[in-house]
Amino acid sequence: TTIPTITLNNGIQIPQLGFGVYQVDPAETKDATLTALEVGYRHIDTAEMYGNEAGVGEALTASGIDRSEIFVTSKLNNGFHKRDDALTAFDGTLDALKQDYVDLFLIHWPLPGIDVDYVETWKAMEEIYASGRAKSIGVSNFQQAHLERILDEGSVVPVVNQIEVHPYLTQDALREFGVSKGIHTEAWSPIAQGGVLKDETITEIAERVGKSTAQVTLRWHIQRGDIVFPKSVTRSRVEENFDLFDFELTDADVAAITALNKDERTGPDPDEFNYIP
Ligand code: NAD
Repeated sequence: TTIPTITLNNGIQIPQLGFGVYQVDPAETKDATLTALEVGYRHIDTAEMYGNEAGVGEALTASGIDRSEIFVTSKLNNGFHKRDDALTAFDGTLDALKQDYVDLFLIHWPLPGIDVDYVETWKAMEEIYASGRAKSIGVSNFQQAHLERILDEGSVVPVVNQIEVHPYLTQDALREFGVSKGIHTEAWSPIAQGGVLKDETITEIAERVGKSTAQVTLRWHIQRGDIVFPKSVTRSRVEENFDLFDFELTDADVAAITALNKDERTGPDPDEFNYIP
């Protein structure tokens, strides 16, 4: 299987399909990540907040796969938005991963209500990028107003905005805004943590094309051009979620799934979420 890549606004390529490790037990993360690498995934999405960067790092080493063939993303945790804290936290991420660089580093949440302005945090991200130890930088859970501020006041355009996207939260306005600025969308909780898998419309399409509802939903993301990294610790599902490239949805199928939107979040609202662990 050849996984399509997307070229980011700085010329770097990212595999459009990856493996996410949110809610993977730190003790299971090495094995889960190794399974994903064995299946063929070459893009891993972790975060300091998940507590499992070390397990990802162990798997990278144990896999024996050339580091340059794997795309690794991590994220700045919420307690570290001040400039100096951000730089220290990034060092901590590299230490935990036992790597001398990450492919992509993201601000995990904008935290618009805390006493540190995310523009300060973005400028720290720009310093990290300039050091070469993050090959790309981006953001997560940024709304259009948050993006506009860093576009106005920063000097590097984020390569991605990683946001919640699935058939019940299609995010078309924010995705379109991203496209207009060269910011690709990464879709988190792409199957709404399982919440869309019994949907009638998706089930009908799945029966017609002979794929599972998870595969149809992930394929919908791929055909819309977003980057996805479904999570599972079950090998058969890890394989299933990788097997998306021997079928195609019609434009009508894509439109029918997009029409399921009901602006329904499974996770927090980024305008309200100001949680610091
Ligand atoms: P997801 O939509 O990938 O769903 C994962 C859950 O769905 C699994 O726990 C499993 O129970 C089930 N599942 C997976 N594959 C299945 C299949 N083929 N058939 C049936 N059930 C299946 O949800 P997620 O883990 O929340 O999101 C994916 C990744 O996105 C995360 O691991 C993480 O990397 C990222 N993420 C980022 C943020 C953020 O704030 N930036 C937030 C949440 C998730």
